[in-house]
Amino acid sequence: MAKKATLLVSACLLGERCRYDGRASESPAVQALGKRFELVPVCPEILGGLTTPRLPAERRGLRVVRSDGTDVSAAFRLGAERTLAVARERNVAAAILKSRSPSCGVGRIYDGTFSGRLRDGDGITAEWLRCAGIPLFDENDDFAALN
Ligand code: SF4
Repeated sequence: MAKKATLLVSACLLGERCRYDGRASESPAVQALGKRFELVPVCPEILGGLTTPRLPAERRGLRVVRSDGTDVSAAFRLGAERTLAVARERNVAAAILKSRSPSCGVGRIYDGTFSGRLRDGDGITAEWLRCAGIPLFDENDDFAALN
């Protein structure tokens, strides 16, 4: 039998309680991809050394700040670096990432004001993966093109 292709997936979508608020963001549609692909769960913020629960954070340009104003850019960059290393080591075909996150968001993220407003842009990890040429999918995208 042919080996299944491998996908990197935001761990919270697969049920890991790694979100800032200690919850998961389970996605049945993403979990169903496990029938066709080998799924590699990663949480960039945990890989970057952050703990759960933690204060929410948002991107402000190249920086990431917590809701109390603390700059957490270094942890987010370390998480991106380690996630990219996993993606390369596992030779992933694509990454399926959690919407709007300052790490994982694809194309639209919170705007850095902690007001719920969104802006165009990627989370830090999504940006690193995109620069490395890895195809990115938001959790709500149509996965029909994946094979
Ligand atoms: Fe989920 Fe990504 Fe946030 Fe981790 S960093 S909790 S995988 S959205």
